[in-house]
Amino acid sequence: MLTSDAIKRKAIELGFDLCGISPVDNFPELTFLDEWLARGYAGEMAYMSRSAERRADVRAVVPGARSVIVTGTLYNAGSDPGDGATQGLESPRHQGLTPATAIIARYAWGDDYHDVLKSRLDALLAWMRQESPDAFDARAYVDTGPVQERVYAQYAGLGWIGKNTCLINAEHGSWLFLAEIICTLPLEPDTQGLEQCGTCRRCLDACPTGALVEPGVLDSTHCLSYLTIELRTGIPEEHRAALGTRVYGCDVCQDVCPYNQPSSHSADAAWQPRRGLDLPRLVELWQRPDTDLRALTEGSAMTRAKLTGLRRNLAVAIGNSGDPDALAALREPRTDQPSAADPMVVEHVQWALGPAAPKPFGAKAG
Ligand code: SF4
Ligand code: SF4
Repeated sequence: MLTSDAIKRKAIELGFDLCGISPVDNFPELTFLDEWLARGYAGEMAYMSRSAERRADVRAVVPGARSVIVTGTLYNAGSDPGDGATQGLESPRHQGLTPATAIIARYAWGDDYHDVLKSRLDALLAWMRQESPDAFDARAYVDTGPVQERVYAQYAGLGWIGKNTCLINAEHGSWLFLAEIICTLPLEPDTQGLEQCGTCRRCLDACPTGALVEPGVLDSTHCLSYLTIELRTGIPEEHRAALGTRVYGCDVCQDVCPYNQPSSHSADAAWQPRRGLDLPRLVELWQRPDTDLRALTEGSAMTRAKLTGLRRNLAVAIGNSGDPDALAALREPRTDQPSAADPMVVEHVQWALGPAAPKPFGAKAG
């Protein structure tokens, strides 16, 4: 007999920090997706609409599904918040932050979680097949599947969906990758996690663009994570200043969350910052030839933005930084940076060098 407890023990052994079992049911939280899409909050993420029907019920993905095994993996490798510029906190890592530092969302500092966690999930599933006396159907997903994983994580007892839309675990906070196995086994479920945000609304108040339009509701089209990662076109001008020196993603609504203070840390080698991505200077990143920039981000989650997307973000961040060295680098056309000649990137470089960009340190435009 393959028990829920045995699966959870094995998951921990394989490197997951949390594991719980959700039943498969028509949870009310699953129904909001249609309204969220109808409001246009998915922006250009057309795949969300295309997969909406399957996202409404995991039984559309695995017919006869009875259980969802949800894992949580801590990825915060910093000794403190990486986006500490937003909080005025003092610590060794914050002291490494200068106005010319490129800020990268914590989840992207190390190896690509899709690859790392998929191999761990596959190992868990292979072990389950070996241990189970009965044959069963199953699918394993890391983020990219048509699954509303935070809903199942909540029903698997891993935590609750906070007002910042992240899954929050009362003990470990929200720096968690979620990954799951949907299966036809009728496993003993866990108890649903209870909401513990209470009257707090720090995340809503701290969001630089007002993307959290109401508690637990994100308008992606205003979210800096979406704008720097998912968006394939230009970043709307009204959001460029709010980007600050972030070049990939945004951690603000998690940094300010009391459940991340103090924050839990992971010693897993997979999530430690790569050389070159640990508090890099904007100018260092921009000056890299395309081949170099590609090699630096290869195998990390940062490949999702593509090179042109990363250069677009860097241009805006440099404009916001006012760093004279970085602004000078923007003015130098180079043959080993073909992505910088992309018309979208060129437009953002012109913005960064022009009068519209903030010049906080008195750097001259033009
Ligand atoms: S990630 Fe940043 S921009 Fe997006 S909702 Fe959170 S604080 Fe706002
Ligand atoms: S900051 Fe406050 S309201 Fe926002 S998710 Fe954290 S506890 Fe909830």
